[in-house]
Amino acid sequence: MPETAPSVVLSYAEATNVVRAHAERVRGAARPAETVPLPKATGRVLAQAIAADRDQPPFPRATRDGYACRADDLTAADVQVVGQLRAGEPWTHGDLRRGEAIEIMTGAAVPPGADSVVMVEHVRVAEQRLSLNGGSGLKPGDNVVPAGAEAKAGDVVVPAGRRMGPAEVAAAAACGAVGVEVWARPRVAILATGDELVDIGQEPLACQIRNSNSYSLAAQIIAAGGIPQINAIVADDASATEQAIRDASGCDLVLLTGGVSMGRFDFVEQALLALGAEFFFTGVKIQPGKPVVFGKLPGPYFLGLPGNPISTMVTFALFAGPLLRAIGGERSTQPRFVLARVEEEVRVKPGLTRFLPARMDGDVRGARVRWLPWQGSGDLTAAARANAFLVVPESADHVPAGSIASVLLL
Ligand code: AMP
Ligand code: MG
Repeated sequence: MPETAPSVVLSYAEATNVVRAHAERVRGAARPAETVPLPKATGRVLAQAIAADRDQPPFPRATRDGYACRADDLTAADVQVVGQLRAGEPWTHGDLRRGEAIEIMTGAAVPPGADSVVMVEHVRVAEQRLSLNGGSGLKPGDNVVPAGAEAKAGDVVVPAGRRMGPAEVAAAAACGAVGVEVWARPRVAILATGDELVDIGQEPLACQIRNSNSYSLAAQIIAAGGIPQINAIVADDASATEQAIRDASGCDLVLLTGGVSMGRFDFVEQALLALGAEFFFTGVKIQPGKPVVFGKLPGPYFLGLPGNPISTMVTFALFAGPLLRAIGGERSTQPRFVLARVEEEVRVKPGLTRFLPARMDGDVRGARVRWLPWQGSGDLTAAARANAFLVVPESADHVPAGSIASVLLL
């Protein structure tokens, strides 16, 4: 039997805390940054906060097409329409006087002297006299966003450590951030182990299978902001495994798949031990993914993920993804769970936190989840049908239909 690290098998909650503690540690570590043009910043993690370069909005902004005026003037009597102001057009006539209104378009700067904008739908105009329709009212401040109400010049609009999505890109663009400083993407080595594996371009023998884990991991790594490096398949051999890990240890994170179970030819732990690795846990009471191993080589962190494709995917989502996002400088890195209504009862044996392949759908009324029948954690077609994993707590023996359950999003 290969030599193994002392066994440390944790509950799901304990393992999560261990990963979180290491994520906190790496989050503070120095890392290289680079400046990228804003259109290339999507998915990147901000190294430097984006601050408002001027008040937002920079002027009191009309939020409706209508008439700018003083609310108490218009609610008391008709007022005189004295001009028109388009979005982007400067107002050059000084303060609006009492009893006056100006036709104004959405996005234009409300002129000084006006305190509100009445919607065009709420008024009528006859011979330049503006009056409120019956049933309509107007209060000071209506349909105007004051200058600086959203942000003051200098305020942080997007903090460092935030992953840039559409909303962050929009905010950066509004602040004139032509280029943004982001953290360099971490490089992640992927080492698939197994004598039965062949490359996807090769014709497998009847007793062989294609290496799919390297590709599912690459997809998950990209989604978590890393750069995957798919290394050659590693044979089930102690010295080959050791050499492959040594070759990969220039990366920011090393992910191995397979070879972490109790089999006679599972050499991953032994190879890591020989390279001086420290182990934080050697198993977690979950299904799928129980034999997952987490630790640190003299250089990078590593995770040994079980080889069954669904186990690989789930243990990445639970442990490797959060750690990788922290290495990439992201502040909020926890896996994403949502609540959904269970469509069909699930029965399990208690004792392990389960993450069952599931299909989640939903609409404006909420999310629904249905577990997928599967042939165990090696069932790739179940994985391909799944878009989420239904969580069954360690102590539960069933989840009733119609109940609300936690769901891990991929
Ligand atoms: P192991 O964790 O090495 O005991 O492997 C568990 C199961 O996962 C076995 O059925 C393997 O053939 C399968 N497996 C291991 N690595 C991969 C891989 N890279 N791609 C697809 N299946 C794999
Ligand atoms: Mg194996």
